[in-house]
Amino acid sequence: MIGAGAAGMLAAGFAARAGARVLLLEKMKTSGRKLAITGKGRCNLTNTAGIEDFLARFGRNGRFLRQALQDFGPEALRDFFTGLGLETVVERGGRVFPAGGRAPDVVKILRSWLRREKVEVRLANRVHGFEIRNSRIAGVETGNGTLPAGAVILACGGASYPATGSDGDGFRLAADLGHRIIPPRPALVPLIVKNPLSPNPAGLNLRNVGIELLVNRKKVRRLLGELTFNEDGLGGPTILTLSGRAVDALEQHDEVAIRIDLKPALDEQELDRRLQKDLRQRGREEIASILRGLLPRELVPCALIACRIDRRQPGCEITAAERRRLRHWLKNLTFEITASRPLAEAIITAGGVSLKEVNPRTMASRLVDNLFFAGEILDLQADTGGYNLQAAFATGKLAGQSAATFIKS
Ligand SMILES: Cc1cc2nc3c(=O)[nH]c(=O)nc-3n(C[C@H](O)[C@H](O)[C@H](O)COP(=O)(O)OP(=O)(O)OC[C@H]3O[C@@H](n4cnc5c(N)ncnc54)[C@H](O)[C@@H]3O)c2cc1C
Repeated sequence: MIGAGAAGMLAAGFAARAGARVLLLEKMKTSGRKLAITGKGRCNLTNTAGIEDFLARFGRNGRFLRQALQDFGPEALRDFFTGLGLETVVERGGRVFPAGGRAPDVVKILRSWLRREKVEVRLANRVHGFEIRNSRIAGVETGNGTLPAGAVILACGGASYPATGSDGDGFRLAADLGHRIIPPRPALVPLIVKNPLSPNPAGLNLRNVGIELLVNRKKVRRLLGELTFNEDGLGGPTILTLSGRAVDALEQHDEVAIRIDLKPALDEQELDRRLQKDLRQRGREEIASILRGLLPRELVPCALIACRIDRRQPGCEITAAERRRLRHWLKNLTFEITASRPLAEAIITAGGVSLKEVNPRTMASRLVDNLFFAGEILDLQADTGGYNLQAAFATGKLAGQSAATFIKS
């Protein structure tokens, strides 16, 4: 077993439970480092979505997960954790968290489980290659020598947040074994804009705004939700969700933009009536003060600069053209996207081991007899909401059980 993350820990425990002698090799000094920081430290373990919805979250590649999820779906996962003493709760959008709200508890509980299942865990043991005999892996090469192996599960994760240990090693190892790697790229990642607002409202978080992803000026997806202004661009849940599609379009050299509707509850006419009323009723006040009733304080100077309006101008002196510019800005605040933040800062690595070369019923390699895969190393990626961890857990369990069966046969 290579990699003690979400997928590797489940694979190791279930392989041991199925009767295999399991050695879990982890390059870091502790296991589950990424798992311990998931969900902003709260670990969004899974999602209560039904299986079809679940698969759809992974796009075209989702159907690869059908078997793994039928065997170990969200309910089974919650039962599994409850059995280990970790209660879970369901929050908004079906997101499932540990009831105690602490991701490190999930890691702790999995470590104890591995001890009970008699999995030997060797930390600070990086795997850097394999000994191949008769087209099979005969041994695993580590800094401390070559270890014999009857079967190997690669669960090295992707290439994002490398400080947690997943730095792309798994892709190199799989490629050395002849597997095709779909080029890794960032997903669930903040985006960089060409035209930041002035003054820059970095750190401002907005809720209930409409966000549209435009590719070559055509709307491809619209979401309603939360957004954050960063120093060099945009982040927050909605942007992360749209980022995968945005990154793909940027790679095709398409024109990518994000359009924000700051007032999604009002259509253009309603917003205009609201503006007219405010300007009329508070006609003697400065426009900057009037706009504070419509916008977060940090965005007021941005709106006035962008719409070329003097902040001291009284409401009653705002012209129809100025009002039109304001209305347009509030409904169509558009940013040209030039790039995403780097892969190292992405929540998920898109790309990975090509699914065509892995059997979805067993997670076995179709190229090397005694090789199995689990988790983010595979070319699977979904939206936020607990889907990615569920995929890691479910493929981990399936790979562990299949590897144990393989060894016994
Ligand atoms: C900040 C952040 C928050 C997230 N929050 C959520 C969330 O709330 N819900 C959700 O569903 N998903 C979340 N994710 C995604 C989720 O964490 C991953 O999808 C999941 O951890 C993948 O599990 P894995 O076991 O495949 O890989 P990892 O958890 O990355 O584990 C891989 C392990 O392999 C080890 N390894 C790598 N190479 C070698 C080698 N050569 N030799 C030995 N060991 C090696 C690594 O050190 C690592 O421990 C989050 C991701 C990040 C970065």
